[in-house]
Amino acid sequence: MSQPRPYRGRFAPSPSGPLHFGSLVAATASYLQARSQQGEWFLRIDDIDEKRTVKGADQRIIQTLDQFGFEWQGEVIYQSHCKADYQDALQQLTSKKLIYPCDCSRQKIRQSAKQGAYGYIYPGYCRNKNHQPTEYALRLRTNDKPIIFDDAILGCQQQNLEQEVGDFIVRRRDTLFAYQLAIVVDDEKQGISDIIRGADLLDSTARQIYLQQQLGYHTPSYAHIPLATHPQGGKLSKLTAAPAINPQQAKFELFKALNFLGQQPPAESQQSDLNSLWSWAINNWSLQKIPAKKAIIVSA
Ligand code: GLU
Repeated sequence: MSQPRPYRGRFAPSPSGPLHFGSLVAATASYLQARSQQGEWFLRIDDIDEKRTVKGADQRIIQTLDQFGFEWQGEVIYQSHCKADYQDALQQLTSKKLIYPCDCSRQKIRQSAKQGAYGYIYPGYCRNKNHQPTEYALRLRTNDKPIIFDDAILGCQQQNLEQEVGDFIVRRRDTLFAYQLAIVVDDEKQGISDIIRGADLLDSTARQIYLQQQLGYHTPSYAHIPLATHPQGGKLSKLTAAPAINPQQAKFELFKALNFLGQQPPAESQQSDLNSLWSWAINNWSLQKIPAKKAIIVSA
C-alpha cells in the first residue's frame, strides 16, 4: 500500500488581467480546503500563454491575494521559467511515439470535423503522415479507453478521449507549450495532491489525467466548483473584463465568496475584521456544502 500523500493544493491564475470575483472564489475554495487539512497551498502564475499575458498583471494578482490575507508556501512559481521541464516531458512522450506533428488549420478542422460536447473532435488527419516536426503543432495520440474519475463535488465523470476530443495539441504551432501539458508537469513537480478549481476546467481533466498516465505521474484528487457567471450568461473572466476585486473591500468580497461556496457565514461576521472572518471560514469549512452545480449566476 502506498503512503497517503501530504495535502498540497494550489491556485494557478493566468496573468491576463486582475483577479475578479470568479478567481476569488477559486482561490478561496482551494485555500480553505488546504488550510482545513493542515496542508500546504502554493501560488503559481500560469504565464505560459505569452500572447494572453498582460504586463504587470502578475504583480497585481500577487498583491491582491496578499491584501486579502492569503498565505502561500515558498516562492511564487512562473510557468515561463519552467520551459525546460515541459520540453523534457514532451521528449518523454515523443520517445513513447505518442507525439506527431500536425499542419491542419483551424479552418480545415472547423469545416470537416465533427462537433462534440467539448468542441471539434480532431479526426486524426495527420496521425500517420510523418511530417517534419519543426513548424507544426504537436499532437498527443489518444486512445479509446475511457478516463474515469471521481470529482469530490460533481461525482463520477467519464470521457473517452479518442471519441469525444481526439488527439490534442501539446505544443502549439507558435512553439508555445499548451496549457494541458504545462499544468500537468507543474502539478507533478510540486507534488500537488488535490486540485480545486472552476468547473470550466472540468472538461480538461480527462486530458490531464491521460497525460499523467503517459508520463508516469501521480493523479491528484479533483474537485470542480461552480463557475461564477454573468446574469446574461458567460463566465466572469479576465478576458471578458469582469470587474477587479477590490482589496479595500476584502471582508465584504470574502463574505460574498463564502456564501457563493455554500458556507453560510453568519451575518454578524460582517461586523468583525477580515482575520476573524478567515478564522471562521477555516474552522467551519466544508467541501460538502459547495453546491454540486457547474455554474451559478452572480449579480453585478
Ligand atoms: N490558469 C487557469 C485559469 O486561470 C487555471 C488552471 C488550473 O487551475 O488548472 O483559468
